[in-house]
Amino acid sequence: MTTSPTSFGPVLERIAEEIERTPGRGRPADYIPALAARDPRRFGMAVAEPDGTVYGVGDWREPFSAQSVTKVFTLALVLAREGDALWEHVGREPSGNRFNSLVQLEYEDGIPRNPFINAGALVVTDRLHTRSGDAAGELLAFLRAESGNPQLGFDEEVAASESAHGDRNAALAHFMASYGNIDNPVPVLLEQYFRQCSVAASCADLALAASFLARHGVRADGTRLLTRSQAKQVNAIMLTCGTYDAAGDFAYRVGLPGKSGVGGGIIAVVPGRCTLCVWSPGLDERGNSVAGVAALDRFNTLTGLSVF
Ligand code: GLU
Repeated sequence: MTTSPTSFGPVLERIAEEIERTPGRGRPADYIPALAARDPRRFGMAVAEPDGTVYGVGDWREPFSAQSVTKVFTLALVLAREGDALWEHVGREPSGNRFNSLVQLEYEDGIPRNPFINAGALVVTDRLHTRSGDAAGELLAFLRAESGNPQLGFDEEVAASESAHGDRNAALAHFMASYGNIDNPVPVLLEQYFRQCSVAASCADLALAASFLARHGVRADGTRLLTRSQAKQVNAIMLTCGTYDAAGDFAYRVGLPGKSGVGGGIIAVVPGRCTLCVWSPGLDERGNSVAGVAALDRFNTLTGLSVF
């Protein structure tokens, strides 16, 4: 069945009913205690149209830990400021490795494969911090403005937990610093990065915040953040690198640019039409939300909306 793409409410209701009947939700991330406590049966989904209309179902207004979903926004903020110069510091190829892998960095002289693996995201946050003086603050201001939610903020417990269990990210940052690919002192960078990861936002907030990608680079207030070409570039990197080392399978099943995080959130973009955010904390073995991917798969099937 193909539902009219304008009637997102009934589509979301149907998806939520199907997800409710589906057993097996995966397991919440447990590498930091603050994430492990979430119930894997929680599920929310929101769709935002380019004019700011939002449809939602389930726990779509509940804040959750955005984690690596935020990497899309910091990438966009840096691209807006420095354009192609960014690509001297980070690549744009899928890594084929785990998101926090160290090995590839050594072979490739401290230049991370893409902005969405942790090493690449650390480089992006470092560059945003150098240019703005407050990378996490810049991100938060952007998310609040685009979502229209002034309550959106950092979860200090998650940030502290990340910091206490942050040895691997510290190793990545120090290693890249040894190649001259990090400007700021590593402890300063890590604090910014952990705050960035700790953003607590709802499906509605993140679907709205990502809408500039459906509007080809234009922000909610009508000003332009990215050129049309840069918006396409961010969408392309999401499609090829946005869902850890399962991006091929995600493209096959969902057919949309997407970015997931270990908090169980995933954002996805239908350029020109809408943005989606789905949240369910249970993850599969590659780190993507089990119910989240299933819901986006069903959305694509029911609406026919995809980039292909
Ligand atoms: N804060 C997490 C880390 O750097 C982000 C993980 C993720 O969502 O991919 O380990």
